[in-house]
Amino acid sequence: MKALQYVTPGKEPEVREIPKPEPGPGEVLLKVTAAGVCHSDDFVMNNPPEMFGIELPLTLGHEGAGRVEAVGDGVKGIDIGTDVVVYGPWGCGNCWFCAQGQENYCSRAAELGILPPGLGSPGAIAEYLIVDSPRHLVPIGDLDPVSTVPLTDAGLTPYHAIKRSMSKLRPGSWTVVIGSGGLGHVAIQLLRHLSSTRIIALDVSDEKLDFARSVGAHEAVLSDDKAADNVRKITGPAGANLVLDFVGYQPTIDTAMAVAGVDSDVTVVGVGDFKSVARIGFGSSPYEATATSPYWGARSELIELIDLAHEGVLDIAVERFTLDDAPEAYRKLAAGTLRGRAVVVP
Ligand code: NAD
Ligand code: ZN
Ligand code: ZN
Repeated sequence: MKALQYVTPGKEPEVREIPKPEPGPGEVLLKVTAAGVCHSDDFVMNNPPEMFGIELPLTLGHEGAGRVEAVGDGVKGIDIGTDVVVYGPWGCGNCWFCAQGQENYCSRAAELGILPPGLGSPGAIAEYLIVDSPRHLVPIGDLDPVSTVPLTDAGLTPYHAIKRSMSKLRPGSWTVVIGSGGLGHVAIQLLRHLSSTRIIALDVSDEKLDFARSVGAHEAVLSDDKAADNVRKITGPAGANLVLDFVGYQPTIDTAMAVAGVDSDVTVVGVGDFKSVARIGFGSSPYEATATSPYWGARSELIELIDLAHEGVLDIAVERFTLDDAPEAYRKLAAGTLRGRAVVVP
């Protein structure tokens, strides 16, 4: 089968022919219907593979949708032919976090060598995908897999980040969304649907700011060295109640902290360079402001998001690519020229 593989650090991924996998005991084989392209892949491919405990070559793609093609011995409760999306942050299933559905924070995954598809295990940008357990599948019914697959990360990650701050999103509150790309454009829609907060989007070009407005941002501000002042002109002295930073480099974290108000949440979702930090302390941050850096989301939250998608309230912007053209999706991602999410349709 064809698969898009990360072969050499710092080089672009390659379309390669590899053997079609067979499901082992407990596993499920999907015929892939859609696979999303995430900016995290770009970060991973430009750093040493040892940093993430991954071995090369690696089939990319941690956002996956597919149709159940075959199941391994002992698999119960999922029918051949079912259309599903894949919950990506696989855990052990048994520890306290996993028991909450928060497999993204599994306390034993590292010790057991459990790695997400596309981030260590073979990923979804291929004709077929092995999923380690039917527990990691969410049926999507008649939803379109292409516009639904981004919900597994570009939706789930902001959904989790927003849910933990729902108490801050009272009427009259302000939420600042930095970076209106794959994750950010879904975040804006989720904020609009789940709360009455007013949204200020920050991005680097007029085109991106127009895009942010088109998906629901009330205000849009260029992300430059005057961004914090320009945001404060809108919020007034109270500042923002929630800041979601989908970039995560020092300049955007500094902007995030500079616009945060008393008792606000500053949530750094973008992985940036693994070095940038938010400073908390008297004189450095507003009273009772918290800063956090969440990872992905819970299994139950993906089920909730699929339910939201069935209500038809989300409009995910997708650029489609064939498997042969998948390297071009990564080029556009790196160049910042995508609108919404790139999705590979094998
Ligand atoms: P993307 O490339 O689709 O979107 C990034 C957006 O940020 C683009 O619109 C870009 O124009 C904008 N941007 C770039 N520099 C900016 C700046 N200085 N100020 C304001 N906007 C700026 O990326 P994505 O796939 O949405 O991922 C966003 C980030 O989130 C990445 O760092 C990714 O690695 C990370 N991520 C984290 C998690 C997690 O669990 N924490 C999950 C998925 C992705
Ligand atoms: Zn991702
Ligand atoms: Zn666990």
